[in-house]
Amino acid sequence: MTDDMKPDKELLDWVVQLRRWFHQNPELSFEEHQTQKRIIEILDSLGIENRKVAETGVIGTIHGKEKGKTIAIRADMDALRIQEPETDLNKEYRSKNDGVMHACGHDGHMAMVLAAARLLQERRENLKGNVRLIFQPAEEKLPGGAVRVIKDRGLDGVDAIVGVHLLGGADAGEIRYRAGPYLAHPCDYNLRIRGKGGHHMCPQECIDPLMIAARFISSVQTDIKTRLDPKCIYVLGFGTIKGGTQYNQTPDQVAISGSFRAFDDATAQTIEQTMRRNLDSLMEQHRNPNAGTEPHYELKVVSGYPVLVNDAKFVHRATTVLKERFPSVVDNVDLNLGAEDFAYYLEKIPGMFMFLGASNREKGITEVNHSSRFDIDEDVLGTGVRILTTLTLDFLDTPEQYIIKGT
Ligand SMILES: [Zn+2]
Ligand SMILES: [Zn+2]
Repeated sequence: MTDDMKPDKELLDWVVQLRRWFHQNPELSFEEHQTQKRIIEILDSLGIENRKVAETGVIGTIHGKEKGKTIAIRADMDALRIQEPETDLNKEYRSKNDGVMHACGHDGHMAMVLAAARLLQERRENLKGNVRLIFQPAEEKLPGGAVRVIKDRGLDGVDAIVGVHLLGGADAGEIRYRAGPYLAHPCDYNLRIRGKGGHHMCPQECIDPLMIAARFISSVQTDIKTRLDPKCIYVLGFGTIKGGTQYNQTPDQVAISGSFRAFDDATAQTIEQTMRRNLDSLMEQHRNPNAGTEPHYELKVVSGYPVLVNDAKFVHRATTVLKERFPSVVDNVDLNLGAEDFAYYLEKIPGMFMFLGASNREKGITEVNHSSRFDIDEDVLGTGVRILTTLTLDFLDTPEQYIIKGT
């Protein structure tokens, strides 16, 4: 098995510096202009061939001396619309962009891929094949930047792909993943229920959309439960409900938004159909000939990223390699109701996506991703770099252990 490259102190300092620069300069999805510029500067300084991709993304390629396969390592680039408060930890690197924050660890992902790229570039004389670096914009916003990267031929010539995502709430250094389906298929929905407004003194002439909304919310979960296999894992949530302006008036309409997640298309379809069936029945029950209009609804469902499926053969070999080198590898975690557009890459080529725990209770770092107080134990950045270089080198040396010949 390939010996790996342990990052030295200088490189570990560099990866922290990079992460802090990205953290201080967060940009929203498809607005990663400064981020893109910085990545290009660094790749240029390392002598790594690169080009822009997907508007605000970058791909780079490290060419090994010997011919071989190509493996991609991916970092997402976007931040979130969150105001970062000052904490005990972030005094030196708090976000400089008001209302925008790297609260999902993507700052760390870019730093880790750049540091891994530097080590691999230094070693290119010994590489059997190539390494594609994918800096992908807009992971957080549907339809996601991965689709654009693929459309812009960022995945062309790549045989396999690896993604490491930092995870708050998990112990620093813990590596988590599973073979097969891992992350969910999310759907967002917007529902508008239209009734007939009027004075509270004459309900007989109104169709109360608030009442319909309340009945929908209290009954749809049970309806869905009775239509799905009890073993089926899914979730349906309500996010917003808005309606009415005046305390003694029945409003004309109510708007509800929310999301649901499942691990296969059939389940997602059943959830949507059941919502519609429930609403159809409520519309029927709330008809009122005195109102002069019929109650009706509009339900728009936006389908999100596909289910993320880790390749079994790739995961099998990676597990052997990771368990030899890292103290905490959990290769059989439960299905996770999160979602990632990395799933699109895995629809095209084999590979794997894993989480790397980034919390540390002793250092007071405990928040989960997307919290305004999210932070990482920066010591895990070195672990992330080592995961990426280890798997890259082992894959290029023994690709047949990871992928079926000819793929
Ligand atoms: Zn996120
Ligand atoms: Zn993320």
